[in-house]
Amino acid sequence: MTQAIRQFYFLSTPVGPLGSGLGGGVELTVLNLAEEFLRRGHRVKVVAPEGSQLREVPVIEIAGQLQPTAHTQARDTPIILPVDGVLGQMWEFAYQNQLEVDLIVNFAFDWLPFYLTPFFQIPVAHFVTMGSLSDALDQAVEQIAQQLPGRLGAYTQTQAETFGLGDAFRTLGSAIDLEKYQVCLSPSSYLAWVGRISPEKGLEDALEAAAIAQVPLRIFGKLENPEYWQRICRQYPQAEDYYLGFLPTHELQQHLGLCRALLMTPRWVEAFGNVAIEALACGVPVIAYNRGGPAEIVQPGQTGWLVAPDDVGALAAAIQAIDQLDRQACRRQAERDYSLAAWGDRFEAWFEEILSLS
Ligand code: UDP
Repeated sequence: MTQAIRQFYFLSTPVGPLGSGLGGGVELTVLNLAEEFLRRGHRVKVVAPEGSQLREVPVIEIAGQLQPTAHTQARDTPIILPVDGVLGQMWEFAYQNQLEVDLIVNFAFDWLPFYLTPFFQIPVAHFVTMGSLSDALDQAVEQIAQQLPGRLGAYTQTQAETFGLGDAFRTLGSAIDLEKYQVCLSPSSYLAWVGRISPEKGLEDALEAAAIAQVPLRIFGKLENPEYWQRICRQYPQAEDYYLGFLPTHELQQHLGLCRALLMTPRWVEAFGNVAIEALACGVPVIAYNRGGPAEIVQPGQTGWLVAPDDVGALAAAIQAIDQLDRQACRRQAERDYSLAAWGDRFEAWFEEILSLS
């Protein structure tokens, strides 16, 4: 059946311009979904903070103060809306222009879009990009689940479960443009760690495990929390040499492909972990703590190892067993489970259901 051509606004994260890395994995998610929907003939405009770069995708840039990230607040922190905040201005734009589109899709992990949803004349779908972190946001999400069922999407089951709302979420996974990632079958001796440098990502555990296993590490990612990084460098002086910065996708995949494995050491319930599927697409196995998104991605013994959460010794032991893993199998899993085509079908079906109910 041919799908109707639809018009969308994708409302991006207000924590940073797209391309800055401040938004973490949601930046890649917004870009990939917008490109896939445009490829399918839909009309998509991304509404995002000023300075956003999204290749060929049309972007409406909005000025204003960036929103503080939810993961740097305590659970009971009241709602924060900075003066001249970009979040408010993005949603003001969406409200004023709502009749230009069929559906608005929210990618912001913030209270305001959930609160505003019932006041819109057209439907707003919410793709929730992190696990539960804030009491105020949880309450707003729960209200949507009750008043407007079917409007909530999430990356993974474990992420959705953190909200305690039964089956209120549709789990949609993630995907990447596999053509942009080359498989590399003859890696160097390095391990990789990729992510925002921020405490919930647990970089110190990867450094410790690599030190125990006596294998060098390559670190890639946005330096989000400088104090945390300074602490890490005092404890592990080699970290400064290991750090290669925040790279655009085409460069990241070149470096990543040369690594023997990716270490994922999150302290929180990682909603998905886009870096895991980027690694698999390059033929790089993933060694991760057995919790959150990576636990739903890694196939132990084939495309990686899952070890007990926070157990650095177990990570080091898994590093010794990398050679039992097959790099071709990693790429095959990426092709089978994380293609844009299958992911686009899931989102299209979700959006059509919302539109048919509205
Ligand atoms: N990333 C990047 N360049 C780098 C390091 C990371 O573009 O040098 C991107 C990576 O492609 C991924 C994102 O940063 O899309 C991290 O997302 P992930 O879902 O793994 O974690 P999050 O930051 O959302 O918690």
